[in-house]
Amino acid sequence: MKVTENKIYNPEIECMDRDELKALQLSRLQETVKLCYERVPLYRQRMDALGVKPEDIKTLSDITKLPFTNKTDLRDEFPFGLLAADKKDIVRIQGSSGTTGKPIVSGYTANDVEVWTEMVARSLTAAGGGQDDIIQVTYGYGLFTGGLGAHQGATRIGAMTVPMSAGNTQRQLMMMHDLGATMLCCTPSYAIFLGESIREMGYDPKEFQLKSGCFGAEPWTEEMRNKIEELFDINAYNIYGLTEIAGPGVAYECPAKAGMHINEDHVIAEILDPETDEPLPYGARGELVFTTITKTGMPMIRYRTHDLCTLTEEKCSCGRTHVRMGRIMGRTDDMLVIRGVNVFPSQIETVLLRVAGVAPHYQLIVDRVNSTDTLEVQVELTEEMFSDTVADVERIRDEIKEGIKSVVGIAASIKLVPPKSIQRSEGKAKRTIDKRGLTN
Ligand code: ADP
Ligand code: ZN
Repeated sequence: MKVTENKIYNPEIECMDRDELKALQLSRLQETVKLCYERVPLYRQRMDALGVKPEDIKTLSDITKLPFTNKTDLRDEFPFGLLAADKKDIVRIQGSSGTTGKPIVSGYTANDVEVWTEMVARSLTAAGGGQDDIIQVTYGYGLFTGGLGAHQGATRIGAMTVPMSAGNTQRQLMMMHDLGATMLCCTPSYAIFLGESIREMGYDPKEFQLKSGCFGAEPWTEEMRNKIEELFDINAYNIYGLTEIAGPGVAYECPAKAGMHINEDHVIAEILDPETDEPLPYGARGELVFTTITKTGMPMIRYRTHDLCTLTEEKCSCGRTHVRMGRIMGRTDDMLVIRGVNVFPSQIETVLLRVAGVAPHYQLIVDRVNSTDTLEVQVELTEEMFSDTVADVERIRDEIKEGIKSVVGIAASIKLVPPKSIQRSEGKAKRTIDKRGLTN
């Protein structure tokens, strides 16, 4: 007996002609703006202040007439001030993990949970998932959207869903091994840790059935993807999302692994110059800004993500037509300014992981000594390298130093530390310790 219809890969929408897609976006945008204007005092005030009415949104580019929404607005209106729906229609609360400051919450109607579920289902399907899969969900369950988001999507595609939540590496591997999990969902940093623990815990990697994984919730690099794919012998796909918009699944990679398709039937993405707030053309790197167009609980108009990336409208080999976003280089709030130079941890990650003999575990320590900023890069050596000769260790240090100098443009001191000495994270990795006590 067939209980549910699995409508997940949806070519009618995912491969839609772009002009049709834009027409759909416009009508949904108009509805959303009307809803926000009528139901959310903050949006009404801001639109009135700018002299813009819902009827003024006649084309998609009219979106630039609308005011921005910031994380501070979610804090100021905490918890329910931005709801466009009645409280009785909210069926779920999720919160941000608070990577940057005080947590915020978002309220979801049944419609919003459904939309989000569909987005994750599409993502898992694009990563090769289906009814025959056993999906281990190792994102944390709770207010953080990772666990429940992946769970809902995995259930929707009819996979056998294993709600492990984060942590307890030994139990993770035991279940992955004994159940024969075929897909894994967790942060890329925890995936590395799990992969490295396979042999240590007495397993042979060949005994695992894993074929792919969807990794996200934190910035990572192509070099990190290569490591994960090698460690588990799988395909590693990028998945992106944020609590304010939905959670994981806002954008996801297809087998082309060339950027993440944004679910444009549910959100409109813009790229702005973070300093001037002016829209940037496709291809230019800037701040990603989202407007939700199907959300009814806490719709977001021009939400500033602080995430930096590029967008492309170029045709993808998979046939999907939705715009793709490149890897997140970092958040504007993660950006370190060291001796006047802008530095993102992801740039340093790229350098580190290209050097043979270092492990994908690192931390950046920023300090100020005699009024001068200092950057110390602590990175672990691999077990093999750790027991190797001094000459090689010197070579590694020089290679990293030169790499950072040429890629980032600053001098850093390099501290090679023993294997396993940098603290592991089960969720989002903490890459930076800034001891300067600067607010910015
Ligand atoms: P926060 O981390 O702000 O407490 P969330 O848990 O909602 O809140 O996380 C959303 C943020 O996580 C995004 O804005 C982005 O910075 C980061 N993120 C999510 N997915 C990815 C990804 N695939 N690559 C890089 N960064 C990501
Ligand atoms: Zn594609």
